[in-house]
Amino acid sequence: RSKTKGGNSYSFYDPKLQTLLEKQIELETDIVRAIACGEFCAYFQPKISALGGVVGAEALIRWHHPSKGVIPPCEFISIAEQYGLIQQLQNIVLRDICFLINELSAENMIDEFFNVSINISQCQFNSSTLKTELLNTINDFDIRSSQIKLEITESMLSGDIDNTIQQMEELKEKGFIFSIDDFGTGYSSLAHLSAFPVKELKIDKSFIDKVLDDGSGFSIVQMIIGLAKSLNISVVAEGVEGLEQFEILKTMHIDSIQGYLIAKPMITHDYLAWHKHNRALFQ
Ligand code: C2E
Ligand code: MG
Ligand code: MG
Ligand code: MG
Repeated sequence: RSKTKGGNSYSFYDPKLQTLLEKQIELETDIVRAIACGEFCAYFQPKISALGGVVGAEALIRWHHPSKGVIPPCEFISIAEQYGLIQQLQNIVLRDICFLINELSAENMIDEFFNVSINISQCQFNSSTLKTELLNTINDFDIRSSQIKLEITESMLSGDIDNTIQQMEELKEKGFIFSIDDFGTGYSSLAHLSAFPVKELKIDKSFIDKVLDDGSGFSIVQMIIGLAKSLNISVVAEGVEGLEQFEILKTMHIDSIQGYLIAKPMITHDYLAWHKHNRALFQ
């Protein structure tokens, strides 16, 4: 942006800004095209109980781009949010989740406690249609709301607390379960957490990475687990890559883990095969 001589008006001839905007619009146009062409889908990463058993899975969106290959969410989620496309992506993910649950149920591969998480953006969470969108889709597929877990990030708990609690209570009343994602990165006070209807808390990978170090990593994880237990909230470690990490987390009474140690996120077909094969192994 450059200030024009003698006035307060701004002109938009900054070439860098221009290029950035053009890139964003190009990406937005491509997302719209890709939605129409069915290039987005959910991948699934299993969640394993520390006691054994596959207790759930997390849906993570992927874009199968015809020329660029598989594109991860960090490259398009924020643009989708800015341009009002996130709702459509969420619906794709939600339908994939419902399909997966139905497949697993049909083959008797899950119990009543198995649930699949969906990541909810701040703007989706704020939207007044979230509840009806969720209810309509699960009704279409004949899925129970308790089979869907809503992951919101810790940072979404700051801001308008009363509104947040009300939105969460309404969804909880309908049977949906809440999990707090990326816990430890949002600077919310620990006491704060008890105000929200939360069933699960996921310790951010950055802390799990340091759990074997001599420094503060171990203490922080232990503190989070202790807090969660005292509030009757179950704790998941995300991004577990090594067996030693899993072992130490077990001694710390972690409830469950997710990570490359167990499996990377997989497309529906591969997840189903994985689940079928590993369900028994982890029991
Ligand atoms: P998240 O919800 O915290 O998801 C965890 C991320 O860590 C995922 O990245 C997952 O693939 C990755 N991960 C899991 N285990 C390991 C591990 O052992 N090592 C490493 N290095 N990484 C691991 P992904 O799939 O790229 O997703 C990134 C973020 O994008 C998610 O973070 C979530 O915030 C967002 N996201 C993904 N899918 C959706 C979606 O459908 N809707 C919305 N609104 N956001 C989504
Ligand atoms: Mg998540
Ligand atoms: Mg996370
Ligand atoms: Mg994360």
